Amino acid sequence: MPALLDTLRSLLGPDAVLARPEELLVYEVDGLTLAPHRPDAVVLPRTTADVIGVVRACRDAGVPFVPRGAGTGLSGGAVAAEGGVVIECSRMDRILEVHPEDRYAVVQPGVVNADLSRAVAGAGLFYAPDPSSQLACTIGGNVAENSGGPHTLKYGTTTNHVLGLELVLADGEVLELGGPTGFAPELDLVGAVVGSEGTLGVVTRVCVRLEPLPEAVETLLAIFPDVVSSCRAVTAIIRAGLVPAALEIVDQRTIRAVEASVYAAGLPTDAGAVLLVELDGVAPAVARQAERVRALAAQAGATRVETARDDAERQRFWRARKGAFGAMGRLAPDLYVHDAVVPRSKLPEILERVCEICDRHRLRLSNVFHAGDGNLHPNISFDRRDPDELARVVRAGEEILRTCVEAGGAISGEHGIGLEKRDYMPLLFSPEDLEAMARLRAAFDPERRSNPGKLFPSTRFCVEANPKARGYDRVPLG
Ligand SMILES: Cc1cc2nc3c(=O)[nH]c(=O)nc-3n(C[C@H](O)[C@H](O)[C@H](O)COP(=O)(O)OP(=O)(O)OC[C@H]3O[C@@H](n4cnc5c(N)ncnc54)[C@H](O)[C@@H]3O)c2cc1C
Repeated sequence: MPALLDTLRSLLGPDAVLARPEELLVYEVDGLTLAPHRPDAVVLPRTTADVIGVVRACRDAGVPFVPRGAGTGLSGGAVAAEGGVVIECSRMDRILEVHPEDRYAVVQPGVVNADLSRAVAGAGLFYAPDPSSQLACTIGGNVAENSGGPHTLKYGTTTNHVLGLELVLADGEVLELGGPTGFAPELDLVGAVVGSEGTLGVVTRVCVRLEPLPEAVETLLAIFPDVVSSCRAVTAIIRAGLVPAALEIVDQRTIRAVEASVYAAGLPTDAGAVLLVELDGVAPAVARQAERVRALAAQAGATRVETARDDAERQRFWRARKGAFGAMGRLAPDLYVHDAVVPRSKLPEILERVCEICDRHRLRLSNVFHAGDGNLHPNISFDRRDPDELARVVRAGEEILRTCVEAGGAISGEHGIGLEKRDYMPLLFSPEDLEAMARLRAAFDPERRSNPGKLFPSTRFCVEANPKARGYDRVPLG
């Protein structure tokens, strides 16, 4: 490691290489605090050439590396599960090109999601994928996780907005995949890289689709006595053929945490749940759809439906939703943000099961989620210093995932697999499916040096599922 550190310093300069224990401490975790792993070093490159130099130095030293954006990931994807060098892309934060006439931009991976939409707003455009962490998370992290967000319901996830990218492989080779037209005749390797969680290499440039800002936006807040009736409203809205830009549910415990925090938005703390509905498009259509949503919400049991009167009020509603996870920090030292997806119509039944699981394990549960996508986020507030509580959190988490899979859902809706859920992959995929994925990964990174220990099940789990399986990752959670 000392020789590698010298090489990295000579490549990037001493201020771009961190190796003191107090500097490395903050890189032990990302948004998942259950599984700390300290890296041996962190580097802060500015250019593709810097990244090539770093991965080659790692190859020569036989050390793995972990690409990292802002570290807001919630599945442990950006931690150095097997040690090695974290390549933090936050200094690769330049918007390189904006083409309003062709509606695309080319950016470095460290550009913060919200900064991109802000930068192109003057041209009447925006970047649609909007994770609730968008004030901090980066486009590189979004690409690696195929991130969603409240507006995924209408606009799709990150994969629908990435036209091309540049990828530095573990041996330093550079691939140029896709391009601005989005109609590439070759194998869809852009699609393979989006969602690959840093296991194929380091994304160093991204060509993204931009959308025109809608002519009209209407944001409604429907107040419900309980979560189940708010879920029924969601099903009714979708069944009526409407496609809102967003349909988000916030439950009572979350409302109370938000209202006690800096994100307070004047939400009624006695409501069982609120449903945030955003409609966008041409003005007359949006007005008609808003009327229909009000009626459907009332039929499903809403006691009141408020409409944002102006942009300031709209931002206030959204501040409550997007600040919800932050506000939850008031409830306990740790928050485990779960992520799973089920067919939308099963939400009421699954939420009841999730409540039952958490009650049985004596855990504090709250829910705030992308209801329109069937994407649940059961949030468990806990204190990881209490080993018994920690063990109950992990057991409840597993039961929640199994319940969602049994209901025809999946183990992640948007936060990815990372370190957290890799051993649950066999719940969804056969040994043959997993083997095919491992072979694809090996075509990009045969020595398994780009973000090892993520996404693919550990050897132990795979051998249980398939005695012939080999070459999977090794690190247990925690
Ligand atoms: C409060 C809060 C709200 C959130 N809301 C949402 C939400 O609504 N929707 C959603 O989908 N997610 C959400 N997330 C999760 C998280 O913000 C997203 O997964 C986000 O895309 C991570 O971006 P990041 O820059 O922080 O990446 P990191 O956490 O740093 O990394 C995430 C993964 O991407 C890989 N990676 C990072 N940069 C690169 C690169 N340049 N090349 C290759 N791989 C790379 C890492 O190795 C890791 O596997 C939320 C998180 C928080 C804390």
